[in-house]
Amino acid sequence: MGELERKFDVKIESTEDKVKFPDALKENLKELGLMDEKGKLKLKGVSPKMLKRMKQEFVKCPVLKKDVQFVQCFVCPNFQSRVMGEVLCKGDPLK
Ligand code: SF4
Repeated sequence: MGELERKFDVKIESTEDKVKFPDALKENLKELGLMDEKGKLKLKGVSPKMLKRMKQEFVKCPVLKKDVQFVQCFVCPNFQSRVMGEVLCKGDPLK
C-alpha cells in the first residue's frame, strides 16, 4: 500500500495548563456534531479518559504557524490521521 500523500508529520505535544476552547472552535465542533449544547465533546470511539487527555494536547501547526489544539487539528481539512503521537498533515494552505 502506498503512503498517504502528505507534507508534514507533526508531533503531538501535551500541556498541563488548563485548556479552553475558543468560541469559534466550539461552534465548529457543534456544527460537526462533535460537541453537545453543554460544550461536551463527543467523539465516536474515544473514551472519556482519552478525551480528557486529548484536550490537553496541541500541535505546532506548520501551516498556521502557531500552536493549535489537537481537537482543532483533528477537524482540520488537512488532517489525515494520527499515528504514534504524530499527526499526518496534508499541509495545504488554510484560509
Ligand atoms: S492538520 Fe491542520 S491544524 Fe493540524 S497541523 Fe495540519 S494544518 Fe495544522
